[in-house]
Amino acid sequence: MADTALMPIPGQIDPVPTPRDITPRADGRVDLLGLPRLRIAELFAAAGLDAKAAKLRAKQVFHWLYHRGVTDFDAMTDIAKTMRPWLAERFVIGRPEIVLAQHSTDGTRKWLLKTDDGHEYEMVFIPDADRGTLCVSSQVGCTLNCRFCHTGTMRLVRNLTPGEIVGQVMLARDALGEWPKGSMAGLDEVEDEDGGGYTPDGRLLTNIVMMGMGEPLYNFDNVRDALKLVMDGDGLALSKRRITLSTSGVVPMMARCGAEIGVNLAVSLHATNKAVRDEIVPINRKYGLEELLAACADYPGASNARRITFEYVMLKDKNDSDADARELVRLIKQYRLPAKVNLIPFNPWPGAIYECSTPERVRRFSDIVFEAGISAPVRTPRGRDIDAACGQLKTAAQKMSRAELDRLADEKQAALG
Ligand code: SAH
Ligand code: SF4
Repeated sequence: MADTALMPIPGQIDPVPTPRDITPRADGRVDLLGLPRLRIAELFAAAGLDAKAAKLRAKQVFHWLYHRGVTDFDAMTDIAKTMRPWLAERFVIGRPEIVLAQHSTDGTRKWLLKTDDGHEYEMVFIPDADRGTLCVSSQVGCTLNCRFCHTGTMRLVRNLTPGEIVGQVMLARDALGEWPKGSMAGLDEVEDEDGGGYTPDGRLLTNIVMMGMGEPLYNFDNVRDALKLVMDGDGLALSKRRITLSTSGVVPMMARCGAEIGVNLAVSLHATNKAVRDEIVPINRKYGLEELLAACADYPGASNARRITFEYVMLKDKNDSDADARELVRLIKQYRLPAKVNLIPFNPWPGAIYECSTPERVRRFSDIVFEAGISAPVRTPRGRDIDAACGQLKTAAQKMSRAELDRLADEKQAALG
């Protein structure tokens, strides 16, 4: 069994346990999943290659690992045949373990995953006509306890490692059969900004949202390192324009998010005054609305072409009045924010104390914002039947019996195929 010793994160706000970047394995081999080129080269050098060879091998392995999705060193055809067993004796390329794969009637898919030290987390794939979005988790559980969110009720919280984060995207590509095939030639072509230079036929996974379990800006370093692998032209090669990170409002980390990751920003606003936001998004007591909106105004890279998304969950008689809609418009205009608003009908879960606003109320709220010149679409809930919709993620395994889990685990291969 792997030993993932927990260590405190230096300088982190509200630290939660995070494991080391390399999890020691029982067989002594090192899992390369989640490591950048430089770290892989260091490991190769430490295992005996000279610096130049280590750098070259790291570059080759990096390409096979992240760009081609290969997990077997023997398939790395540009690496000498004699070198491959040397690698396989010392290293592995892993994947997060799948406990359960579920399919919604609307096509949404959810996977329950497990870390080496036995923590469970989830990822969700949402296919649409023009895109396929993977909703990725950044933590097991969440420390923030937003009152309407099921994830916030989980007791256990731990940061996911870069490997556990990028591993979700790689698992999704495995499951969707989406790794590029064919010769290496052509695959090394330089990307254009939108990743449009690289679109294998039938690509289903086009977008990533950091909107699964956890607060990504409370696990900043690991989320950044994982997304760097996703955005690397020789890695998963997805454009930063197709990636959105959602935060509940960790103000001190927002500028770094823009500068060091550079992805689109979504902010879970959900209320327009202190009293209500303090109640439903408790981090507001620490970083208030004014501070949050000022940080949005300063967000690097935000423009009319790349607007900030404000997520707004529709809670009956709590935050859904005409006055709330008008105040939302006023705030966006006051701070001159290039913004769009995503209205999310509240997704219920057992024990939740809120109700979803009526469809008429949601429509009226949307109209008011829209009439002020701000786009405010109502999101259609997806995957509600398998508890995959926004805010419903809470590892279902906690609620299932061992026998049920075993039966479902048996089905997972079939579901994946
Ligand atoms: N922790 C981050 C990202 C994950 S949550 C954040 O809070 O921004 C993704 C979105 O779903 C957030 O806007 C969150 O507030 C919203 N959400 C949470 N619970 C919900 C629920 N029960 N119904 C609808 N949306 C919910
Ligand atoms: Fe955490 Fe986001 Fe849920 Fe709030 S809404 S408890 S920040 S996952």
